[in-house]
Parts: sequence; C-alpha cells; structure tokens
Amino acid sequence: ANRTPSASGASTDSERTPVRVDSQESQVSDTETVTDGHRWPRQNSMSMREWDIPYEELRMGDVIGTGRFGTVYRGYWHGDVAVKVLNMSHLNDEKALEQFKSEVSMFRKTRHENVILFMGACMQPPKLAIVTSLSKGMTLYTHLHLRKDKFNMNKTTVVAQQISQGMGYLHARGIIHKDLKSKNIFLDNGKVVITDFGLFSVTKLCFGNRKNDSLWIPPGWLCYLSPEIIRKLHAHQLHAEELPFSKSSDVYAFGTVWYELLCSEWPFKTQPPEAIIWQVGKGMKQPLANLQASRDVKDILMLCWSFREEDRPDFVRLANFFDKLPKKRLARSPSHPIHLSRSAES
Ligand code: ADP
Ligand code: MG
Repeated sequence: ANRTPSASGASTDSERTPVRVDSQESQVSDTETVTDGHRWPRQNSMSMREWDIPYEELRMGDVIGTGRFGTVYRGYWHGDVAVKVLNMSHLNDEKALEQFKSEVSMFRKTRHENVILFMGACMQPPKLAIVTSLSKGMTLYTHLHLRKDKFNMNKTTVVAQQISQGMGYLHARGIIHKDLKSKNIFLDNGKVVITDFGLFSVTKLCFGNRKNDSLWIPPGWLCYLSPEIIRKLHAHQLHAEELPFSKSSDVYAFGTVWYELLCSEWPFKTQPPEAIIWQVGKGMKQPLANLQASRDVKDILMLCWSFREEDRPDFVRLANFFDKLPKKRLARSPSHPIHLSRSAES
C-alpha cells in the first residue's frame, strides 16, 4: 500500500528505520533529519519496494566466498554486482524478516565514497539477498595477512584516514557497524570501501539456529571486540543483540585495524580465545614494545583501545589526526622514515 507522510510528520510506518544508537544521541529519524543545516525529506514516504530487486532479475554467477551471513556471489544486475544471499532457512520467522528489512532500510541511506554502494535487496523469503556494487580490489585482510604487502607510512595513513571518514559518515547517519574488521574493508584502486555494516544482527539469527549452544567464536573475531563486549560474552548466549555494540566499540575495532595496518598481524595473535577474553576483559592490551612507530602513532592505538568507552576518540577526531600525521612527520624529519623495516612501495 502507498503511504503518505502524515501532516504532523509523525511516522506510523511499521517499516520505519530503527535508530541503532543510544537514544540521547540519535541523529537519524525516518521522519525528517536535520544534518549540517539541511532538511532532508521524509524518507518513509518512499516505499521499500523501490529497493526490492526481484530475484528473477538477478543473474547469479560464481560464488566469491562464504562468510558468517551466507554466501556472496558475483552477479549481474545492470552491470556487475555482489549478491549476498543470507543463509536463513528458518526465515519464515516473521521477526527475522522484519529485522532484515530494518537493516536494509538503513543501508539505502548511505552515500559516501568510502562506503560500499547499496543497490537493493531481494525481500521474498526464503530468498533474502543484499545487492551491492562489486569490489574489484582486495580486502585489507588479503593485502596484510595473506599477501604480506608492506604499505609505507603514507599509504598506511591514507588508508586509516579514509576508513575514519567512512566510519564517521556511518556514525553520523546513526549506523553502528558492529563488524568492522580488515575482511570488511576493500581497497579498490587505492580507495577504501567499507562493507557489511549493520549486518551483524542478521548474523546472530544464524547463530541462534545452531544446534549446540556453546558460543561459537569465529577465528579472528575476538581481537576486534571491546572490553565491554568481551565481558558480556557467555557460553549460552545466542542473542547477540544483548552485546553492547556502540560507536565506541566500532572505534575499538578500528584500533585493531590500525594495529594490523602497522604490524600486518592481529594483536594477541598466538593466544587462545580464553586468554584473549581474560586479558581484554581486565583492560590489558597488546604490548607495543616491538612496534617501530612514533609516539603519535602508538598514542592513537592506545586511545582507540581505551578500556573506558568515553576515553576513545570519535572518527571525526581520528580523521583529523590522520590528516595531520604525514605532514607533521615530513616537517619534522623528512629523511627519517618511521618504519625502517617498511619498503618504499606506495
Ligand atoms: P567475511 O567478511 O567474513 O570475509 P563475507 O560473507 O562478508 O565474509 O564475504 C565472503 C566473501 O565475499 C569474502 O571473500 C569477501 O571478500 C567477498 N565479498 C564480500 N562482499 C563483496 C563485494 N561487495 N565485492 C566483492 N567481494 C565481496
Ligand atoms: Mg564481509
């Protein structure tokens, strides 16, 4: 049914976007949003159908890979696309479908250079899929952990800055990523593209479907989780919406990405999950003694990894920091590279 916005501007739309930040700091409403002095139109007057892509219209190609949500395919829909088919056999569940729709209504509002282009979604259960632009580049994970590519400090800084800009944008739109990690950051022709924001709550539903009820910890996940989240992990907890994801937990995860950029490895890399959980929960951090980097570079890492959420900087501050970083260093000692071990590859 077509909906028109009510005269009062109050939304009665059952599909209105939930705001996924603390209510005091909510900045996105589906009725009218004022950002930077602009008045944005009421988007709930636009039917979700505009973002529906009939499954039959998609030409599916090869599988690119399988992750937590389901399977990602190369696809064709008015050009090359990535199709993320959610693996939810139990999706006759009305609540799960509603949740998926509300995630999608968040994605359709994102327009930023460093954020993946959302093109639409297939909403007919059991065929649920998200269609985005296809990244032709590699993920940061592939660059750093598999190929062992060495980025010089300038490139490292530019990448960190672009991540901060994309994340700052998502946060300003009221979107918490919840799964920021090097596998969800692509480098397309040197440009950062962030993917898979906000999808985490859909994932949990998949967790919830598992037969055994022990907590399943995907490899390489723990080191992105902030202390307040780690402390909430329980073996019998299947509802991850109980986990306190926030803007500052995204900043903590970014700290880990910054560490990966600097060291090409994960913090706590050789340690078993229980040891990581114990240490992070107590506020202990990966030691930086072996990291050859300037004080500034290490400080930003320590700030992002602050035990107290309120001590972590926001992404606007981080972007400013990275903006100043290379110039500052060049002004100080142009002939002395911070990373003596790094190649001069650009
Ligand atoms: P994960 O993020 O844990 O690797 P995903 O399910 O998100 O798991 O992704 C599965 C695979 O599909 C990964 O190899 C990922 O790099 C790839 N992929 C995801 N989104 C895109 C995209 N938009 N373009 C190209 N490849 C993608
Ligand atoms: Mg992913």
